[in-house]
Amino acid sequence: MLNQAVKDELRAIVGEGRYFDNPKDLLLYSYDAFMVPGLPEAALLPVSTEEVSRIMKVAFREKVPVTARGAGTNLAGGSVPTRGGIALVFTKMNQIIEISKENRIAVLQPGVINMEFQQELTKQGLYYPPDPGSMAVSTMGGNVAENAGGMRAVKYGVTRDYLLGLEVVLASGEILRTGGKALKNVTGYNLTQLFCGSEGTLGLITEITVKLIPLPETKRTLQAAYKNLDDAGKTVSKVFEIGILPVALEIMDKVSINMVEDFMQLGLPREAEALLLIEVDGPEAAVAVQSERLTVLCRDMGAHEIKVARTLAENDEIWKARRSVYGAGARLKPTAIAEDCTVPLANLVAMFQAVVKIAEKYQLPIPVVAHAGDGNLHPMILTDSSNPEEMKRVAQAMDEISVKAVELGGTLTGEHGIGIAKREMMPFELGEAAMEITRNIKKVFDPFNIMNPDKVVRIV
Ligand SMILES: Cc1cc2nc3c(=O)[nH]c(=O)nc-3n(C[C@H](O)[C@H](O)[C@H](O)COP(=O)(O)OP(=O)(O)OC[C@H]3O[C@@H](n4cnc5c(N)ncnc54)[C@H](O)[C@@H]3O)c2cc1C
Repeated sequence: MLNQAVKDELRAIVGEGRYFDNPKDLLLYSYDAFMVPGLPEAALLPVSTEEVSRIMKVAFREKVPVTARGAGTNLAGGSVPTRGGIALVFTKMNQIIEISKENRIAVLQPGVINMEFQQELTKQGLYYPPDPGSMAVSTMGGNVAENAGGMRAVKYGVTRDYLLGLEVVLASGEILRTGGKALKNVTGYNLTQLFCGSEGTLGLITEITVKLIPLPETKRTLQAAYKNLDDAGKTVSKVFEIGILPVALEIMDKVSINMVEDFMQLGLPREAEALLLIEVDGPEAAVAVQSERLTVLCRDMGAHEIKVARTLAENDEIWKARRSVYGAGARLKPTAIAEDCTVPLANLVAMFQAVVKIAEKYQLPIPVVAHAGDGNLHPMILTDSSNPEEMKRVAQAMDEISVKAVELGGTLTGEHGIGIAKREMMPFELGEAAMEITRNIKKVFDPFNIMNPDKVVRIV
């Protein structure tokens, strides 16, 4: 519990306007996109590393839990203050400190919004590929803490592939620097990558250094409709076999195609069992050849309708369908839970089929979209969190999806993280030896278990 004297001390660090302890104000920081609430006792919005460090020194002394928060868009309960304490909100640490074309790097505060960073880079002909679906609002700190991916991960990888260095405030308030601006660096253990994906449980990210690449000259999107999901799944592996590494390679199943069409009337082929969306990028001549080869491949593999964008505007038009899936689902039911299981590519269709069976077994609508090129499925469970009977079935369905993914050689989560949503399933995938090491790492960084307790790993 935060007593009044400690509250006053915290308020003095950030000042009025960036400190809140009124329950009505605190409601804002009590949810994330997983929609399981937990009210903090105080919310603080620091503007500097020094303020974060001073806040942590108080929290460490008083053994008060601290939950870091970016935009609160994570889908695993990661930014919910399950034990009260302090919600540390990074949205005001939102400066792009440096963009260096010469060094191919950028240095950012953690509250910078992914898309705003991308827009700034585009002006300079530079590129930072990681593009989570939430990029219009999610923060770079949240992206690093979750090791966020996105549609472009097929060709360009995820957040960790661009991460060069971090500044981190530890539980004690001490400031740690990892990595740096050098594009190659193998000095010592890779602490930078240890913090990437640690979901605020090991330290608070206060500065991020990422590497940049040149902006590709152009890009082209192709949409292929299949009457058979199996044929669409087999096309995914064939794309790589014919020597093409697309930027993005997505699948929508029949339920999601029709759900989006009901919502947006985009003229999607309602009869299709699966829709493949493929994007290639690079110099114009290469893009033209690749899109021609992909058209032939999709036709040979059984696609009955193929559309190739002729302009950048038409690319965007094709992607509208994929981008509207969450919106289309959210309007059908009060609660939409996005699963995140990931399997080796050869098991993509088997995982799709397993989800269909699980949906039937638990009588739940579960449209499925997938970052197919990465084997990363997002079954979307449409439900109502105020219905306890249905939520019991949802929990069983979620567990069964996770078990099946691991049995197929995959993982519980490809990009959304563990948070509280997947914590109890983690030993099933990792085994006891890895869990023991994970708990020991947590204890080294956070001896009093105040850094986002209850998330990822439970310390008793
Ligand atoms: C519609 C929608 C689409 C999405 N699409 C994708 C997608 O394509 N790919 C993907 O990977 N994810 C996706 N997500 C999930 C989510 O957007 C990402 O996990 C994102 O990285 C979270 O960023 P955030 O700023 O919202 O962080 P938050 O949700 O606020 O926090 C996420 C985690 O990071 C910790 N944290 C936040 N800031 C810091 C910091 N400075 N230091 C230490 N820890 C910190 C928090 O404690 C929490 O555990 C999607 C979510 C939604 C709602």
